[in-house]
Amino acid sequence: MNICESDKLGHALSCYGILKANVLQKADIVILNTCSVRDQAEQKAFSFLGRAEEFKREKPNIKIVVVGCMAERIEHKIKHRFKSVNLIIGAKDIDNAAFKIADLCDISNYSIAERESDKAFDIIKYITVMRGCDNYCSYCVVPFVRGQETSFKSSDIIEDCRLAVNNGAKEIMLLGQNVNSYKYDDIKFTDLVKNIAKIDGLERIRFMTNHPKDLSNELIDMMAREPKVCSHIHLPMQSASNNILLAMNRKYTYQQYLMLIKKLRVAVPDISVTTDIIVGFPGETEEDFEQTLKAVKEIRFGGLYVFRYSSRPNTRAASMDDDVPLEDKKKRHSIILKESNKISIEIVASMVGTTQQVLAEKIEGDVIETRTRSGRKVFVKCASKKDLGKQLNVSIKEAKINSLFGEII
Ligand code: SF4
Repeated sequence: MNICESDKLGHALSCYGILKANVLQKADIVILNTCSVRDQAEQKAFSFLGRAEEFKREKPNIKIVVVGCMAERIEHKIKHRFKSVNLIIGAKDIDNAAFKIADLCDISNYSIAERESDKAFDIIKYITVMRGCDNYCSYCVVPFVRGQETSFKSSDIIEDCRLAVNNGAKEIMLLGQNVNSYKYDDIKFTDLVKNIAKIDGLERIRFMTNHPKDLSNELIDMMAREPKVCSHIHLPMQSASNNILLAMNRKYTYQQYLMLIKKLRVAVPDISVTTDIIVGFPGETEEDFEQTLKAVKEIRFGGLYVFRYSSRPNTRAASMDDDVPLEDKKKRHSIILKESNKISIEIVASMVGTTQQVLAEKIEGDVIETRTRSGRKVFVKCASKKDLGKQLNVSIKEAKINSLFGEII
């Protein structure tokens, strides 16, 4: 979501003639797009702001702008601590950020031409279909900083997708905090994807993130039938202990989650399921953790992100006793990571010798970075620029922990 919004802001700023500087030292405006999901993300933002202030002492005319969730959540704290920040724009106001930044810099000339030429190089286009969340998982700050769930008009989304494809996009990644609960008038997420799939020239569709409680049979069926939809789903599990899932307010049990995985694997046999896990949630016992570890071993996720629980202000979990010692959180984090890496290595090793259809996304020298339909990166040597944006058949020759190496057939 942050990549998408930074990208969108970059495009919008280019309409005012404000272009990306390749290095900080060349920048006249420093814009920090922030995340509040974890305490660590906020600490990183503070440390970046410290560096930006140092930079401003050397170059006093630069402007410092903070946007995003942290700007929404703790505007006053940022103002108080970083006196040289010129402008703070919260996540709910991000659509006006380019205008406000241009205004700060006394720029009023706006030209769409620059933006469209810029867009021509996006092979993968991120399109936000909804914002906000009404789920109030007890650990999560998103509903507080992003507001209520709002789905965007389907015809506008389809038009954005069409424009992106006309400008060279081959893959659309639909984004939303809870993408599969999308609903605009009578149009549900499945209908939206089916309509987007009709766009000529579009080759692949992905979407994230999905809430298990909103993963309908209809959506699973559509994933099985629609050839443009990639065989990958990110489905956050968070924990496999029903006590913890209840305390997290996730609205499903582990058994229901497992049933969804089974259905997905029957419908789309080559599907890769990736997930998020939180360890050390308040009250998580060794036994709760063992259940999560067992689930990781049994389900064999295609990849996972594991986080140590950190308390977020205003959330329900913030009033719970954060009783898992840091040492235990670290230990549980590393156990899950180790197991996940082991499984990843086994999965990628089993792909050696197979042929995969990949989309060529980026080129560096004579190596093209591509991605399989299941979301694995494959580096292909001796490729040329003309292969960019094409779907290629690649023979997998070598595997490393999270990447594969192959040759074009
Ligand atoms: S579904 Fe839960 S974790 Fe995801 S954004 Fe909403 S409140 Fe946060």
